[in-house]
Amino acid sequence: MSVLTSPQSSLRTRCDWRAALKSAIRNPAELCRILGLPADLVDAAVRADRDFPLFAPLPYIARMEPGNPRDPLLRQVLPLEDELRDSPRFIADPVGEAAAKRLPNLLQKYQGRALMITTGACAVHCRYCFRRHYPFDEGANSPLGWESAIREIANDHSIGEVILSGGDPLTRVDAQLADLASALEQIPHLRRLRVHTRMPIMIPQRVTRELIAWLRETRLLTIVVVHANHPNELDGSVQKALAGFVEAGIQLLNQTVLLRGVNDDLQSLVRLSSRLLECRVMPYYLHQLDQVAGAAHFEVPLEKGLRLIDQMRTQLPGYAVPRYVREDPGAASKTVLA
Ligand SMILES: *Cc1c(COP(=O)(O)O)cnc(C)c1O
Ligand code: SF4
Repeated sequence: MSVLTSPQSSLRTRCDWRAALKSAIRNPAELCRILGLPADLVDAAVRADRDFPLFAPLPYIARMEPGNPRDPLLRQVLPLEDELRDSPRFIADPVGEAAAKRLPNLLQKYQGRALMITTGACAVHCRYCFRRHYPFDEGANSPLGWESAIREIANDHSIGEVILSGGDPLTRVDAQLADLASALEQIPHLRRLRVHTRMPIMIPQRVTRELIAWLRETRLLTIVVVHANHPNELDGSVQKALAGFVEAGIQLLNQTVLLRGVNDDLQSLVRLSSRLLECRVMPYYLHQLDQVAGAAHFEVPLEKGLRLIDQMRTQLPGYAVPRYVREDPGAASKTVLA
């Protein structure tokens, strides 16, 4: 069996995370072949993936159910015809990021926290991504451009926390990230460093000794916020990778996007929270979908989201129920819906 027809075997043979990024599936026909999916999905995916191509790493594909076009993990990555249907409420920059730019690679919306765009690259292309149309500037987002962001943060004493975002900051190599962390920790008014990443979920091999080392060695309080939407994403390999953070004493939080056909049912959300607890990750936010062009078919009505949260409360301890939030352009914080 070749690597392409057997995601399981490739999972065992590819240990290096960079190899896993390189071998990620970009071709809809190949994805459908690996998973034994009907060929009619391929044509639609080829038409829909033009602006924002398919990109899915094999360790993630290995957690999908072969032959199931409705698999909740598959739905997050497979381009569908639905993406081409225009919906007037769904726009390129739904959360007002253009207005929040202090520099091409530094956004600030909220008091005390600044968000650094460290790269445009991700370990996966999530079809519902609110930055799917973001004008990533490779020059500014590269390590060469970090210097101006560091200077801006150093000159603003009101900033106590820096969030490394992207893209996914953990697509950068640890040597670059360790340099960035040590530049940031020299800014006396900074207290916390937060990393927003989907990498440990997509490619668990990314949680390397070097990664844990720079997170642990910095003077800054480090918080890692991962992004999982469905309990099937959190298999044994991911749990083991997350244990690396736990053992180093790094606080782990999770954010989820509420997605139609992926996790908009009570059982998925309850199981997701339970699984997160088993992995020692606190459920943080459940996001109402940002209204980004191409993602309208993922929207769950607000009333349904509110009902789901109410039902979750009856089945889980209070600390396992995430805050249901929405991002409103211009607001001083995320808007708490429940
Ligand atoms: C969501 C977000 C944050 C973080 O908000 P918290 O409520 O602190 O998690 C920070 N900056 C920007 C631009 C954001 O969109
Ligand atoms: S990992 Fe995050 S930034 Fe990257 S495509 Fe998915 S949602 Fe968007």
